[in-house]
Amino acid sequence: MIIIMLGAQGTGKGTVAGILSKENGWIQLSTGDIFRENISKGTELGIEADKYISKGCLVPDEITISMVENRLEELKNEKGIILDGFPRNIEQAKKLDEILTSKGEKVDWVINLETPREEIIERMLNRRVCPKCKATYNLKLHPSKVEGICDNCGAELIKRADDSDAEAIEKRLEIYDTQTKPLVDFYKEKGIVIVEEISQSINRLADEACKDFMRRIQEN
Ligand code: AMP
Repeated sequence: MIIIMLGAQGTGKGTVAGILSKENGWIQLSTGDIFRENISKGTELGIEADKYISKGCLVPDEITISMVENRLEELKNEKGIILDGFPRNIEQAKKLDEILTSKGEKVDWVINLETPREEIIERMLNRRVCPKCKATYNLKLHPSKVEGICDNCGAELIKRADDSDAEAIEKRLEIYDTQTKPLVDFYKEKGIVIVEEISQSINRLADEACKDFMRRIQEN
């Protein structure tokens, strides 16, 4: 099963993908996590990717697509993969279709997370991530049990560099609107989009969205 997470930055894609993969034994493939890991290790890929990520821009397609293609090949025997952060534009989505078709697979579901814009920026500012196991927390909505420490692996939580820079946040949201949001229609035409609202204002957070998603795919 191949599932894609869509939704603007800060809507909770990583959290939802994390819950679903833990509960179902699926693998979460986050392109942002792969880039950040390479940046922290100072690899060639990391040095190149950081030039774009630090400015809030997308990493060029040729780098991102081949990285995902290689990772999908490594994961070919997994029963479920949740793509978190890929595809980010129509070009990547078309290329993904080609890669999956060549393996006799397809995108099964797309989860589109919707959150009011005013909540998104606050979520990004309050986001903390585990550099080791990649778990995501929010200081207000779902803090770690011990402040600053990952519940899963005990590592010290950090704030993502690109979540600290207001200009980079604005740029990322603008890129989402112009390049990534059109993917919702691209996948709607295939009839595989499930919209999940996530908003503090209606007290509907990641857990509820995951339960609803599982219920809906089981009905199909
Ligand atoms: P994320 O953790 O998904 O918010 O990704 C962090 C950053 O990594 C993004 O702002 C982009 O600079 C880069 N990135 C992640 N996924 C992609 C992608 N599919 N295409 C291009 N750049 C990406």
